[in-house]
Amino acid sequence: MKVIDLHTHTTASDGSFAPAELVKMAEKAGLHAIGITDHDTTAGVAEALAAGERLQLEVVPGVELSVNHQRLGSLHILGYWIQPGHPDLAGRLEDIRGGRGKRNQKILARLAELGCPLELSEVLQIAGGEVIGRPHLAQAMQKRGYVKSTQEAFDLYLARGKPAYMERERMSPEEAVDRIRRAGGVAVWAHPGLIGLEEPRLEEEILKLVAAGLSGIEAYYPEHSRETTELLLNLCQRHNLAPTGGTDFHGEVKPELKLGSLEVPAELLEGLQARLPAGRP
Ligand code: AMP
Ligand code: ZN
Ligand code: FE
Ligand code: FE
Repeated sequence: MKVIDLHTHTTASDGSFAPAELVKMAEKAGLHAIGITDHDTTAGVAEALAAGERLQLEVVPGVELSVNHQRLGSLHILGYWIQPGHPDLAGRLEDIRGGRGKRNQKILARLAELGCPLELSEVLQIAGGEVIGRPHLAQAMQKRGYVKSTQEAFDLYLARGKPAYMERERMSPEEAVDRIRRAGGVAVWAHPGLIGLEEPRLEEEILKLVAAGLSGIEAYYPEHSRETTELLLNLCQRHNLAPTGGTDFHGEVKPELKLGSLEVPAELLEGLQARLPAGRP
């Protein structure tokens, strides 16, 4: 079976492999296509596309946005084939990256109060790219010996509800979906199975996002049970949405996930592409 992986992170955000390295790994793993979906940035996309051309592997340009849902908290929205630098999205992403910077400063101040001081420079060195996330802070804490693992850093300090958790500016789900669409892309709800919603409520939320312009749902995901995947495939069929899937590969940041380890059928890519807005620039 031809397999694709439409959800991966590179050094442009919190993945540990550079875009070209990741594309090379995808080719070695025998993938038919790979989607590059860094958090809040498309900075890794050009390098990945160039590598894809060299290796004759289809690279799907993308982004992953963490949005704030009024009742459900944080949800993730994937955007594919957005026009790079499109004014409806690029400026907003820049604001959002700026909001991360402010949040990270607050986290560092709080961590210092909690007896875990870190220099921003250590974190920047770990991050490498322009998007600094909590996984980088967790790695810096581990390196200093404050915690035994990055998971422990989340569990004791950085996860929502823990003492060093700080909010940052995020879009609403509707705004993110709408901006992705206006920037010429297609919007997909990432890993909807992780929030533990049961069927009637899940369907309601899907329909709200569809009204905002949602095109697809990430049905195949390592942490989705078989039942969850089946339910999401079924909801896609019922509401004429494109199912997608991916591993959320981060490299060493989340070592348990392997590239190409998930059986996402390659045909799904055409289904997603068919949802691209008409009259796209
Ligand atoms: P950020 O975008 O900086 O808020 O960081 C979000 C990332 O941190 C997510 O994509 C996950 O990779 C990771 N993360 C968030 N919450 C947890 C948690 N409770 N345990 C482990 N990793 C987490
Ligand atoms: Zn990530
Ligand atoms: Fe995500
Ligand atoms: Fe992700």
